[in-house]
Amino acid sequence: MKSKMKESRMERVITRFPPSPTGLLHIGNVRTALFNFLFARRHGGQFLVRIEDTDRARSKKDYEDDILSGLEWLGLSYDSKLWRQSERTEIYRSHLRRLIDGGHAYLSAEEEGERREVVRFKNPNRVVSFTDLIRGTVTFDTTELKDFIIARSADEPLYHLAVVVDDTLSEVTHVIRGEDHISNTPRQILITEALGAPLPTYAHLPLILAPDRSKLSKREHGEIIALRHYKAKGYLPEAMVNFLALLGWNPGTEREIFSMDELIEAFDLSKVQKSGAVFNEEKLRWINREYLKQLPQEKIKSEIETALKGTRRFALRGWSLSDELIEKLLPVLFERIHVWSDIAKLAKSGELDYWFEAPQYETDKLYWKEKKENVALSRLLQEAVSLLEGLSEGEFRAHRIKETLMQFAESHGRGEVLWALRFALTGKDKSPDPFTVAWVLGRSESLSRLSEAVRKLSNK
Ligand code: GLU
Repeated sequence: MKSKMKESRMERVITRFPPSPTGLLHIGNVRTALFNFLFARRHGGQFLVRIEDTDRARSKKDYEDDILSGLEWLGLSYDSKLWRQSERTEIYRSHLRRLIDGGHAYLSAEEEGERREVVRFKNPNRVVSFTDLIRGTVTFDTTELKDFIIARSADEPLYHLAVVVDDTLSEVTHVIRGEDHISNTPRQILITEALGAPLPTYAHLPLILAPDRSKLSKREHGEIIALRHYKAKGYLPEAMVNFLALLGWNPGTEREIFSMDELIEAFDLSKVQKSGAVFNEEKLRWINREYLKQLPQEKIKSEIETALKGTRRFALRGWSLSDELIEKLLPVLFERIHVWSDIAKLAKSGELDYWFEAPQYETDKLYWKEKKENVALSRLLQEAVSLLEGLSEGEFRAHRIKETLMQFAESHGRGEVLWALRFALTGKDKSPDPFTVAWVLGRSESLSRLSEAVRKLSNK
């Protein structure tokens, strides 16, 4: 008996990702690469990558490197020996010759009266129909395309010719690419047929939209469309893959977290939506945090420590981070981040200052709601200091500090006491509870900050 898995496998699947190295690897292209990869792996097929550098003037080695290192970072391994179209001129020339000899193409002047000769495809001017796995039946009247140019000269093939020759020779079975290529498909079908080659199956993926539903573009949205921007921010590749997989595809359930293997198992082109997929960094942040939570403590510690020490503020203010402090701070910091670069943001905003240095603040801020007598509050705080002094170094832990202070706070005005304690320790309107803060800071630093508040109140 065949297993379910076997039944849904196709006979043979070969997909491809053929980027043009004319810019940094962007989110849209990565999503295309990922879907090709997943589809091929799902069906036990092959995933090919080649570099489409027919536009010599705009192609750059740096971009090629960026694209390949991006694929590697995400774990999108491919099964082909990488090639560049610029190295295959001979192959395209022989195919051009075949088309010309077969009466499917001819040399002609580029423009009326120009001397330069280009190769044009002899358009049979008919209606082309194909079944797109995502969009259903797509029909084009090719007449309006006229006799389009397929090569600038025998040695300068253009995209449509090169793409068809490469797909044909690689025996690509499925062309899965962005919807912006759908209008190229009729031309490519005509060329494929003229070469007498079998047609691949097409699947055109929905566009990726910015949160305001405009088309995501480099001009409008700048660097946020480049994959390396996300790598630099400290997103995990697994989270990136998971997030991109959900841009236009979903498994038909509410589930959102998938490892690469789980994606391969679940991926199905028929569940790709037709409408545009909105790119939402908040969702990426949420997914990334889910992956952060799965990391070993040691890894989290070293990443946060490195991020913190790497900030300008840390260096400029001469902070130090003992092993004891980082151990205590870890849960507090981890709770506030979705991606490693959040640490730098928090540090830059000054929100972490109080962990490393005593806060500066106006005395009046120590009052919870309205200002009352200085004497009363300074007495309350002095009393709290005395209670805390009763705890030894070893007893100075969050739950003991809480036990020690809570009853006192309850009987003297919980809001007043707890607010003043917290503010004296942090100088901030928002922070973790004062017991946790005191524990992280340690006995002597906490007592010193509280005593300073008492002094400020008494001086008023
Ligand atoms: N080189 C083209 C691009 O990067 C490939 C298009 C295709 O998949 O046919 O957009």
